[in-house]
Amino acid sequence: MARINLEHIRHAYGEKPKSEADYALKEVHHEWNDGGAYALLGPSGCGKTTLLNIISGLLQPSEGRILFDGRDVTELSTQQRNIAQVFQFPVIYDTMTVYDNLAFPLRNRHVPEAEVDRRVRETIDMIGLSGWADRKARRLTADQKQKISLGRGLVRNDVNAILFDEPLTVIDPHMKWVLRSQLKKLHRQFGFTMVYVTHDQTEALTFADKVVVMYDGQIVQIGTPAELFERPSHTFVGYFIGSPGMNLLPARIDGSTVSLGTDTITLDYQPKVAAGARTELGIRPEFVRLGREGMHVHVRKVEDIGRQKIVRAEFAGKSIAIVVPEDGEIPAEPRITFDPSAINIYADSWRVGREA
Ligand code: ADP
Ligand code: MG
Repeated sequence: MARINLEHIRHAYGEKPKSEADYALKEVHHEWNDGGAYALLGPSGCGKTTLLNIISGLLQPSEGRILFDGRDVTELSTQQRNIAQVFQFPVIYDTMTVYDNLAFPLRNRHVPEAEVDRRVRETIDMIGLSGWADRKARRLTADQKQKISLGRGLVRNDVNAILFDEPLTVIDPHMKWVLRSQLKKLHRQFGFTMVYVTHDQTEALTFADKVVVMYDGQIVQIGTPAELFERPSHTFVGYFIGSPGMNLLPARIDGSTVSLGTDTITLDYQPKVAAGARTELGIRPEFVRLGREGMHVHVRKVEDIGRQKIVRAEFAGKSIAIVVPEDGEIPAEPRITFDPSAINIYADSWRVGREA
């Protein structure tokens, strides 16, 4: 187990990067606590796999250093870093049995056979392949192969960290849930530092203590699920987390007064905004109150989503989403108010804190 520091990591795949756009990782500077369970969440292409491969040592960063418990490991291999990595696609030996596939990482490190047998059998049970131990891997289905791959990552209990790169993509939903609970249990038992990459926010929010959100080669926020929901640090996080995402309304800020078209709202603080910055007010659909008081809106569409309704309305020349209870009434002349404590102000896409 180890605390992992990434210091000013940048990475470009091409030989001679010409501009910032050529960098798959722009500037990643972050500490992963010893024993933390992290989810790394972000859209396809934002740099998640690149970052994981840099932590494990499969990839050398163009710039920056990696430290494990303060020791520089930038030049060390994955094996020397003592990291287990589970990939999106199965990495197994087709000609070996399930048992031997799982025993391989242990035998490789000269673990005594009795201990190998115990660990392998435990792992086989955990990944739900009991009864398949003597089967050749090539005769298994794609999701069984992926389970072996996962098992190979989990079979050792002496690693510095385990990195998972969307490992459950091909697994069916129920088994996904079972395996995810197993991972959580293992984490509690052994306290590995775990980094779990996914582009699925539900998966991220249920697995991790801390969610790391990546966007365009950068880490834009690290927080608990509640922090990401209530105080998104960047408009991307507001939009990406939650369904529907945060409403973002172009706003003019003057002291504690926010103008939205012809309406104004008074905040209980004064956001410090640099002159000329593009400012927006962010409010989650759950925190917009629809009723007979407040600012006028034009309702365009109502979607029933079971226990709630999503009202799509036009407000200040923009479209706004409002979540109302299933039995919530929509007045003939609808108006809205915002829960003041749920308002976030953004300047050039970054949140301007109350602290500022
Ligand atoms: P993610 O895992 O979040 O989908 P990746 O880390 O795979 O993102 O990719 C980040 C960026 O780097 C993308 O623009 C991708 O096209 C590029 N990229 C990834 N791998 C390579 C590679 N081997 N060679 C060149 N470009 C790559
Ligand atoms: Mg990837």
